[in-house]
Amino acid sequence: MSANLSPVQTDIDFEQEGKQVSFLRVPHSRNNSAWGKILIPITVVKQGDGPTVCLIGGNHGGEYEGVVTLLKLAKSLRPEEVHGRVIIIPALNLPAVVEGMRKSPIDGRDMNRSFPGLPHGTLSQVIAHYVHEAILPLCDAVLDIHSGGYSLDLAPYISMHYLADEAQMTATKEALHAFQAPYALIMEEFTGEGLLDYAVEGMGKVFLCAEIGGAGRLTPETLAIAERGTQNFLKHFGLINGEIVTCESLGQPPMALMEVPDPENYHMVTVNGIYESFYTLGESVTAGRPVGQVHMVQHPTMEPEVIYAQRSGILMGTRGPGYVEAGDCVALVASQWASKS
Ligand code: CA
Repeated sequence: MSANLSPVQTDIDFEQEGKQVSFLRVPHSRNNSAWGKILIPITVVKQGDGPTVCLIGGNHGGEYEGVVTLLKLAKSLRPEEVHGRVIIIPALNLPAVVEGMRKSPIDGRDMNRSFPGLPHGTLSQVIAHYVHEAILPLCDAVLDIHSGGYSLDLAPYISMHYLADEAQMTATKEALHAFQAPYALIMEEFTGEGLLDYAVEGMGKVFLCAEIGGAGRLTPETLAIAERGTQNFLKHFGLINGEIVTCESLGQPPMALMEVPDPENYHMVTVNGIYESFYTLGESVTAGRPVGQVHMVQHPTMEPEVIYAQRSGILMGTRGPGYVEAGDCVALVASQWASKS
């Protein structure tokens, strides 16, 4: 499949020098707009030869750090300060972003389960296909900025997957170190196929996913981490000049290297009720000890369901809203990164 099968149109010329601010125009025929399009903002800033990076926000709606960081960067970045090419898409799943919802309200799809996409599929699949065919092949590295959204609250971390290819693993780890969040995670995911992550990794490129904050909020602290990390990412690839701003240089503890190697690091509930976490994010938990419990509000005579830590480590993720349903994730525990390097 190639990009010229895509119905997505843009007047962006990816080879043009300078700064272009425009849209990906995705056809969306609807009752009140027969020839209507969804206009997904895109900014390309290019000067001379150098690497290409793509910065993505709003892959899920309801996750605001990436969207705001990239809206600000797209306004401020000038071609004369760039060595190479920066492609900025602040709200990849625009319909979800404007609704504040994880999934697209138009086709009900999770954008980050829609890759590599389909040229004539649903709206999310069409967007995914265009990105996969027209943008990812241009890139040396991709940074996808998430947060926990409405349902999860996450300690601010930058993450990568375990990769089979040694050179790709090394290059990705170097970018991970450069980002400088409070935590860095190397992880395995158990969420199924269709992630942007796998699409980029499958092309042999560097991919990082930032997970910064959540619970449907945007805070000054989490936004600052996203902005600093994005600048560091660009500096690491030589796209902009300047020294990497480390956590230590800001008087903070050094970035903690953690790992999430298997499903045991994720904790689910098996009943409906109100989740009471015994820890706040960043606290240490011990395998076999309770991390929280679910109060079954409809059944006052029943004892709460206790959730026991399956791993020792740091609580990296907890539930956003208090009410939970069976199958919801309520705790992510990250272990110390065994192979610290
Ligand atoms: Ca997300």
